Amino acid sequence: MHDEPTAQRLSRTPPPAGSPAATPWHALPPDAVLSRVESGQHGLTDEQARERLARYGPNVIQREKGEGPLKLLWRQVNSPFIWVLIASAALAIVMGKVTDGLVVAAVVVLNTLIGFVQEYRAGKAIEALSRMVPESATAMRGGHKISVPAAQLVPGDVVELASGDKVPADMRLLASRNLQVEEAALTGESVPAQKRVPAVEEAAGLGDRTSLVFGGTLVTAGTASAVVVATGGATEVGRISTLLSQATDLQTPLTKALAVIGKYITVAILVVSAVLLGVGLWRGYEISQAVVVAITLAVAAIPEGLPAIVTIALAIGVQRMAARRAVIRKLPAVETLGSTTVICSDKTGTLTRNEMTVQALWTPMGGYSLSGVGYAPTGELRRDGQPLGALPDDVRELLLAGALCNDAALQGRSGRWEMTGDPTEGALVVAAEKVGLRVDEARANSPRLDAIPFESEHQFMATLQDDAQGHRRILLKGAPEAVLRRCAPGDGATPEAVMEEVERLARQGMRVLAVAAREVPPSHAGVSEEDVAHGLRLLGLEGMIDPPREEAIAAVRACHEAGIVVKMITGDHPSTAEAIGAQLGLHEPGTRGVTGARLATLDDMQLKEVAAGTNVFARVAPEHKLRLVRALQAKRHVVAMTGDGVNDAPALKQANIGVAMGITGTAVSKEAADIVLTDDNFASIAAAVEEGRRVYDNLIKSLAFVLPTNLGLALILMFGVAFFPIHDIDGHRVPLMAMLPTQLLWINLVATVSLALPLAFEAKESDLMRRAPRDPDAPVLSHFVVMRTGLVALLMAAGAIILFLWEYWSAVEHLGHPVALAEAQTMAVNTVISFQIFYMLMCRTLTGSLRKVGFFSNRTLFVGVGVLVLLQLAFMYVPFMRRVFGSAPLTLEAIGLSVLVGAVVLPVVGFEKWMLQRRGTQVVRQVRLPA
Ligand code: ATP
Repeated sequence: MHDEPTAQRLSRTPPPAGSPAATPWHALPPDAVLSRVESGQHGLTDEQARERLARYGPNVIQREKGEGPLKLLWRQVNSPFIWVLIASAALAIVMGKVTDGLVVAAVVVLNTLIGFVQEYRAGKAIEALSRMVPESATAMRGGHKISVPAAQLVPGDVVELASGDKVPADMRLLASRNLQVEEAALTGESVPAQKRVPAVEEAAGLGDRTSLVFGGTLVTAGTASAVVVATGGATEVGRISTLLSQATDLQTPLTKALAVIGKYITVAILVVSAVLLGVGLWRGYEISQAVVVAITLAVAAIPEGLPAIVTIALAIGVQRMAARRAVIRKLPAVETLGSTTVICSDKTGTLTRNEMTVQALWTPMGGYSLSGVGYAPTGELRRDGQPLGALPDDVRELLLAGALCNDAALQGRSGRWEMTGDPTEGALVVAAEKVGLRVDEARANSPRLDAIPFESEHQFMATLQDDAQGHRRILLKGAPEAVLRRCAPGDGATPEAVMEEVERLARQGMRVLAVAAREVPPSHAGVSEEDVAHGLRLLGLEGMIDPPREEAIAAVRACHEAGIVVKMITGDHPSTAEAIGAQLGLHEPGTRGVTGARLATLDDMQLKEVAAGTNVFARVAPEHKLRLVRALQAKRHVVAMTGDGVNDAPALKQANIGVAMGITGTAVSKEAADIVLTDDNFASIAAAVEEGRRVYDNLIKSLAFVLPTNLGLALILMFGVAFFPIHDIDGHRVPLMAMLPTQLLWINLVATVSLALPLAFEAKESDLMRRAPRDPDAPVLSHFVVMRTGLVALLMAAGAIILFLWEYWSAVEHLGHPVALAEAQTMAVNTVISFQIFYMLMCRTLTGSLRKVGFFSNRTLFVGVGVLVLLQLAFMYVPFMRRVFGSAPLTLEAIGLSVLVGAVVLPVVGFEKWMLQRRGTQVVRQVRLPA
């Protein structure tokens, strides 16, 4: 009953005056509803729909943004880094160092703005992705059943609902069959509610309006037809759109881990600052000087740009994945993809082409073959290799029944057919048409009175057909086991003989469907489960091929190279699955798969072993998928699992990466998934994994680039305070400082933006898909990052300090202290920046050499370097800049020297990389799974 509060709150909300919601639709009978919305059982005409669309507007809900710009701005400011900077600025101003204080404040503003703009754009890009998987609905327009974008539905449209659909608007039921709807989006109640046609009393609360279905809720079972009574903002969900706040949450495990690291870094910096303050005072600094040094350290050591870099790297990943047909629904998936160790994929349509073609027929009279591929109308029926002149009766009956117990339709008669519906059923219609049967005519002559729709669990579909002569027949088609179980024995061939034939066809990779029929008295009005429980007559078998996709074969190979296991999970027959599995390279030809029935007999311990050791699972029902995911996870696997049906949702949620199908998947599966494939293609999963790995690599690169600069600058300062001389000038004690606070900020800000960001665009490493998956437990600040940070920071600090002192001592005699200091400080800044440029080049690959990635492969980098060089020239030669930053022009020789010293990083890091490679060190820690 915990839907009560919401329901009460809703019923108290007065509906907007004049909106369709003012009418108690749930209390009116269907006919009254139809006449009020000026529609009929056959829906609207195209003209009416157009006119109403103009009147009521599109069926979309203005969603609330997850994070408004103000909140995002606040998030930029509300980081420990920024607080320390703000405090520093305030302190500097209080101490009388107004310029320094203002420059720090300017940095805070600039950094906040840059972070804000970048994250805002990233958020927008991610938000736009949710619109990339359009929703559609089946509606009656002009008397025809067509698929329309859900946004174009209008009041009065008659819509068909089936299990797995998302209800596109508020609707009054006209007819329903076992309809169950999960209304969590509206009431918070996740147990599906039964829905029925009869009207309910007017006072019924939202949860009791069983004759209505509400937009945004999910059909979990059954079918229905219903008429739209409210769209867009007028729907129940539209009126409480806060519930739908579309969170484009930019938090992931990685950003959270980095936030924690950020806190530690801040605390460490504060401690070191305090120590530095003490050392300065002890060495005889004036208080204001010691405070400035402490502030300077905080400013220098804080990696302000890091949070923005992470978000941007993730956003770039999301966009690149979308371009490769994998739309991310939940941001953390970007990271998780990179550590995927096993992909469990459906077969039909994902690994195979889903272009089913019937090639073999069998009736109790014998076997036949049918030539031709795809939906082309040419093909020939043969028996024992010989073309048949006339169509044998047994074949006619089999093909007709297969085409009648069927919802697929063909359009276009010349050259090639267009098929709408399930490809398996399409293949049966094509087979009938190929031998000259007119399916449309047959359907008109023998109308369908009732049907049990196909569901993966039952593996069959049944219909009740009438013919003009007053005969009624139940037709049944489905998986051979499911159909044979329902057939009367001894008719033509024994069940064993039939199953032998099924096996023979399945071993060739064919999907086999059996077709059966039963005559019923004319009084029979519907078809129920009991009607098809037994006593049917087997008409025959139809065997169809569905070849593997070429891209899937290549992608499976790529996954194997990348240490990722690929498992196929299919509802198909074991022999079919085994044959296709071998064609895809999932296992050696002749390897046996495991069936769902077998899985059901295993306990959890046994299941773990079987799940890990088998790559082909056949006749699997959705509930087995959930157990399989759990078993693999118990084996420490990071599991990506595909699914398209309603009942796949639990497995998709349980999997580390739930993958839904954009084209054929149900709305329910898409809601449950982390990513949606816009082309339903297995190769797109492999592509997404590759992008996921790249994102992580590039983050490590950015981290390994940013941190050494911060540490290096801190070391320069600390060394100066501890050891640099303190001059006595005009009675003032003036400590020698290698850099001014403003100069440190210049380095920190300019370098981060122009050099670190481009690293997030770096192309993939050549061995990216030849390494094992990343260990999800590996720390972000890995041994590698820490060691590299220490090495480069020491090198950078040493270079800058030596050149600073050298420049100062050689100039101080003939130029005097102030000029020599400005030159020496400029020299130090130049040295650090040239270090950064060279080091950035080294960061482009983690361990490989630059030659492998191609020097010019990342254009953004050169834009970054170009901009930086120009800015640095301005820093030295533009008078305004010299005033603000206290810099000085340097001679060409001096600049050359700083560049030369900066280049030292090339051989040193080159040597480190060589050592790492020689020792086989894993820069990104890879998983080691139990055998
Ligand atoms: P995969 O799991 O590889 O994607 P699938 O989802 O198509 O395959 P199901 O739809 O569960 O598998 O089908 C299971 C079995 O049900 C098929 O092997 C076939 O025998 C039978 N079948 C499939 N479609 C129909 C249908 N429209 N009518 C009757 N039987 C069907």
